[in-house]
Amino acid sequence: MSRIADVLVVGSGMAGFMAALTAASRGKKVRMLTTGMGSLAISGGTIDLLGYVDGRYAADPWAGVALLPASHPYRLMGEETVREALHFFQQHMADQHWPMRTATNADGQPCNVHMPTIMGTLKPTYLLPERVNVSALTSARRVLVASVEGLRDCRPALIISQLRRYRSWADREFSELTMPSPLGEAHRSASALDLARLMDKPRSRQWLTDALAARAGSCDLVLLPPVCGSKAQPETWQAIEKAAGCPVVEMLSIPPGVGGLRLRDALLRALRGYDFEMVENARALRAETDGDSCTALIAEASGQERRHEARTFVLATGGILGGGLALQPGMVRENVMGLDVAAPANVEQWSSPELFGRHFFAEMGVRVDNAMRPTDSQASVHWPNVFFAGRSLGGYDYATEKSGHGVAVATGWQAGRMAAAAAEEGR
Ligand SMILES: Cc1cc2nc3c(=O)[nH]c(=O)nc-3n(C[C@H](O)[C@H](O)[C@H](O)COP(=O)(O)OP(=O)(O)OC[C@H]3O[C@@H](n4cnc5c(N)ncnc54)[C@H](O)[C@@H]3O)c2cc1C
Repeated sequence: MSRIADVLVVGSGMAGFMAALTAASRGKKVRMLTTGMGSLAISGGTIDLLGYVDGRYAADPWAGVALLPASHPYRLMGEETVREALHFFQQHMADQHWPMRTATNADGQPCNVHMPTIMGTLKPTYLLPERVNVSALTSARRVLVASVEGLRDCRPALIISQLRRYRSWADREFSELTMPSPLGEAHRSASALDLARLMDKPRSRQWLTDALAARAGSCDLVLLPPVCGSKAQPETWQAIEKAAGCPVVEMLSIPPGVGGLRLRDALLRALRGYDFEMVENARALRAETDGDSCTALIAEASGQERRHEARTFVLATGGILGGGLALQPGMVRENVMGLDVAAPANVEQWSSPELFGRHFFAEMGVRVDNAMRPTDSQASVHWPNVFFAGRSLGGYDYATEKSGHGVAVATGWQAGRMAAAAAEEGR
């Protein structure tokens, strides 16, 4: 790769990967700088598009998009662009043998699905791994809820009692199973990722396949914590379903995010065929600009600063959690370009007294135009060759809306293609 990248992406969360994949698939030289894995390491492997609007459940997320405020990233891009982005993502996941699909309602229209979690709650989400059998989820009568001894926070009895509170699950016949841990006494507090890694090796699967073969025969559905392999490899899940003799659905879990890591695995594989370079443990510190153009980012790695030149830049550095935004009393700042993010000077106004109300801190972030270029309070573009994506953007609250990876996929795609086009123009 020549010293100057066409597109320099900062951040390796969902938004950064989408921007990189989009630009690279358009023939651009892409370099990614990142300090960590971002929220893919802690999130589930499903794509939330839009679960709630103003606290109301959106069974049809596309109908919900039309009700969002004009400043929401989906509305800035437009619904058609969001659809194109999801389509691009699905195509690449399918190419990597990890297809992601939507469920459909009685009229054949795509809709949200309520996925069970290991807390026994139901969470709306939109794109699911194809192996998730949605019709078994909605109609199975006899459900086996299984866990593993020593697995943190996954108790079948609690899950069953919680699920029974939902009308759609109340009348089902539940049974529970806690399997002995294959990790032995040494791992009293195993995570789903420890077990999923073990399952990657065919010879280490017997403890689970034997236990399910013995107990699942009379069931229509098995609910498991996410242990069907740590990679985007459908064979592992397939082998477990074969042994169970019925559909096996993984419940969404607390971190570490086995499902998110599978998506990461598939995205990294998708990037292998392109002119793509990833520089890990490199923290972007600041930008060099020339007039209204950004020319380079200075990044620190192993105690040394290095200059990374590029034609265009995509900042996908996440929010407060990811490291993209820094808070000081009465002030919010975007960390790399040094943008001031509009915020009330009175910190008390950053949150609402109502726990489930609208909180400013949850929606704070960089404001952009429809090409994802940062704008000032007069809506003028700061730098025409700098683009933002994902949770670093303002105008939405992914946690209450359930729109996290959906916004990251959509805005990452938009920023990636806009950066690719700007790099082409700048040649
Ligand atoms: C526990 C949890 C579970 C979730 N589960 C789901 C789910 O199942 N489905 C869903 O749709 N959404 C989920 N979400 C929401 C979703 O993960 C995020 O909204 C979304 O993916 C954000 O992606 P991002 O790429 O914008 O940011 P992040 O994932 O935060 O990535 C930011 C990246 O930027 C890097 N970075 C930051 N600053 C710098 C710097 N200066 N230099 C270099 N690199 C830098 C970070 O290391 C990181 O790689 C979940 C969120 C949480 C917290």
